[in-house]
Amino acid sequence: MSRLENRTALVTGASRGIGRGIALRLAQDGAVVAVNYTNNEAAAKETVALIEEAGGRAFTVQASLGEAGAVEKLLDGVRAGLTELTGSATLDILINNAAATGFAGAGPSSVTEEILDNCYAINAKAPFLLIQKALELIPDGGHIVNISSGVTHAAFPIQIAYAMSKAALEQITLHMAPVLAPRNITINTVAPGITNNGDPVFDNPEAVEQMSALSAFKRVGEVSEVADIVAFVASDEARWITGSFVDATGGTLLG
Ligand code: NAP
Repeated sequence: MSRLENRTALVTGASRGIGRGIALRLAQDGAVVAVNYTNNEAAAKETVALIEEAGGRAFTVQASLGEAGAVEKLLDGVRAGLTELTGSATLDILINNAAATGFAGAGPSSVTEEILDNCYAINAKAPFLLIQKALELIPDGGHIVNISSGVTHAAFPIQIAYAMSKAALEQITLHMAPVLAPRNITINTVAPGITNNGDPVFDNPEAVEQMSALSAFKRVGEVSEVADIVAFVASDEARWITGSFVDATGGTLLG
């Protein structure tokens, strides 16, 4: 029997990049996966098609996290999709992966209130509300993973707004862990370092060389390498880990 046979999962931002990798990996382990996206319906459908081609089951749910009513819309879609595919709305695994990321270059002197609001709305407020409202679907023994970033543990001033919001996300992990423990629900942070998410910058050898220098392994991470770690943290084998920060940066934070 596969590790996640008869389990279900929601991965936010699963149309592309790391989220797609996590969705593929959880489905490979046997979970039925809800694939959330914001704009790119074709990519979300491609994630589902890749899962189905490999023998798994998945469905897409559009919801633009950070916007009013998005969490409710997402959960309505998740309830409907899971009930159709499994006969129940039980959600065993929640992966908060979607993020506002495109603010490199907005350093301390140029960050605007709008950038801060956007970062906090998508990267911290939406995951908190999603956990709060999804808990009625999550059974005892469920698993929640918040995808943060190594940038909360090393200074990158040009990413200050993003880093502030990811630090807030990590606080959700910490402060929710004792609240969820009586139900044997784990909640953990997984923090990737620079990971090839298919962005064109990863086709630029000079940029890749600079990014690679940050990791102890002197290369950028692959989506599957982060997904493997998330799949473990989201499994029952990791039931004794909660409230923790899992470094998935390939040794970027070693100093
Ligand atoms: P990505 O390739 O840019 O993909 C972002 C995904 O999130 C897409 O599926 C996108 O959907 C979705 N999304 C964006 N805004 C959303 C919103 N408001 N509501 C719902 N979905 C939304 O991102 P990534 O690089 O894989 O990053 C995934 C996670 O890892 C993020 O939490 C990021 O902070 C973290 N991380 C990434 C790296 C890295 O180097 N890649 C490093 C550290 C941490 P659409 O396709 O519809 O736009």
